[in-house]
Amino acid sequence: MPLPKLKRVLLKLSGEVLMGDQQFGIDPSFVSELAKEVKAAKETGLEICLVIGGGNIFRGMAGAAQGMDRAQADYMGMLATVMNALAMQSALEQLGVPTRVQSAIQMDQVCEPVIRRRAERHLEKGRVVIFAAGVGAPYFTTDSGAALRAAEMRCDALLKGTSVDGVYNCDPKKDPEAKRFETVGYSKVLADNLKVMDASAVALCRDNGIPIVVFSIREKGNLARVLQGKGVQTIVQE
Ligand code: UDP
Repeated sequence: MPLPKLKRVLLKLSGEVLMGDQQFGIDPSFVSELAKEVKAAKETGLEICLVIGGGNIFRGMAGAAQGMDRAQADYMGMLATVMNALAMQSALEQLGVPTRVQSAIQMDQVCEPVIRRRAERHLEKGRVVIFAAGVGAPYFTTDSGAALRAAEMRCDALLKGTSVDGVYNCDPKKDPEAKRFETVGYSKVLADNLKVMDASAVALCRDNGIPIVVFSIREKGNLARVLQGKGVQTIVQE
């Protein structure tokens, strides 16, 4: 089934895409390239909510694996997503795109708290709203944060821009025979544990009928192609 006509989308970017070719952190020139893609998408008249992960800086699981308290490490991960959100805000505003960052962990000197009605108003005024700090609770990921914000902002689709160009039946890096799905159902993703987003995020999208579009954001122009239905992608829906 093709995607519905998109008026408002939530774009989720993995933190690792902000690294560019680095091994860690933020590559401002690559963030600027990403911002150009977002700007081009916005110029088609789309309303855009953004969620950015934090994996390029810190993941709670990695901290826990080294002996840290998991919840504490997760809070550090959430703070990493705020740094990424600010980097993207800066890149977008340098291109003249008005933005607001709303964080699920309140930090008044830095950005707004998440207030749905205020976010609505920002979108109406043509601003890109960047939601930071995931759902604001440990033991979650920014995928869940993205699904939650997509649901509450009534987005027509959740676009997951990552390093791979879709969902495969097995790991394409390990198996040359791996096949990419054009479309796949939420239930199959959950039953076969396919690597799309974490299960709670997929379930939230399923329960709210939000299609998930998985595509590579590393290729220039791909976001625009995906929005025109001409990109290499996998659509997860029922
Ligand atoms: N995180 C969290 N709760 C949330 C969102 C994120 O605890 O609602 C923490 C968690 O430790 C996670 C880290 O923030 O590992 C970075 O987010 P994520 O791993 O989702 O980033 P991505 O893989 O998309 O770069």
